Amino acid sequence: MRVSYHPGYLAEIPQGHVFPMGKFPGLRGFLLKKNIVRERNIINPRPVLTEHLLTVHTPRYVDAILNGNLEKKEARRLGLPWSESLAIRSQLAVQGTLNAAMMALEDGVAGNLAGGTHHAFSDFGEGFCVFNDVAVAIRVLKQSLWVKKVLIIDLDVHQGNGTAAIFHDDPDVYTFSMHGEKNFPFRKPPSTRDVGLPDKTTDKVYLETLETHLNDILAEFSPDLVFYLGGIDPLETDRFGRLSLTLNGLRERDRMVLRLISSRELPIVLLLSGGYAPTVEQTVQAHAIMYEEAVIRYSIMM
Ligand SMILES: [Zn+2]
Repeated sequence: MRVSYHPGYLAEIPQGHVFPMGKFPGLRGFLLKKNIVRERNIINPRPVLTEHLLTVHTPRYVDAILNGNLEKKEARRLGLPWSESLAIRSQLAVQGTLNAAMMALEDGVAGNLAGGTHHAFSDFGEGFCVFNDVAVAIRVLKQSLWVKKVLIIDLDVHQGNGTAAIFHDDPDVYTFSMHGEKNFPFRKPPSTRDVGLPDKTTDKVYLETLETHLNDILAEFSPDLVFYLGGIDPLETDRFGRLSLTLNGLRERDRMVLRLISSRELPIVLLLSGGYAPTVEQTVQAHAIMYEEAVIRYSIMM
């Protein structure tokens, strides 16, 4: 399986910052060590073209990120201090998702060892999300007629507010978000389908709910491409999650998504989105599950 990754995914942030920046190189190392991906299948993206960012984001906001002109208030909302490395990281990660989408269209499955920054709106970022990588990838692929209809399965525990707002008026992009109802963001612009779960939802209820909704969606909407935001923050151990999934439940979730999508022969792009396990190592191991399950699923199929 081919995945996007670049050493520049690691941006400088102050020590002790809550965002686990080390998970990006950590996941690359873990997947190589466990023979889940091979070195030659790790594809380095270049920074995304500015004209491609502008298919989603406003010229003012793109300039503010690229040139460090964020207002104080905006930087606070973003939750990450601006640095040149953050600007570069954000451009690399968007192109990583666009590349992964192209690779998925060729291979059936591919990933970006980053991405899923679903809290980014067209004119501002929040919740550690600078640019909306999925939105840019979709706009670029739609403009070049690679795809027409796209499904976003967003299982990060936080609702995909930026993505929902960006695609609000596009009937060809189906945004599905299943999240903690009481969690951030507190204003949730409507996705095509939102499923808000109560605090402390456990594996069984979570998985049953997911299967029902996914089957429903796939019966009514036939996408050319699927983006999967497999955030690991529904885990019970997550610092911000509020739900109560076990590691096993998380594995079942990824397995279910991969089974339902691959059995319909739909190409799927795997993206990290959020995860705040107690340590970076635990965060990495939980993010790796999606890739482990993809390799199992797709090697069985080949
Ligand atoms: Zn999240």
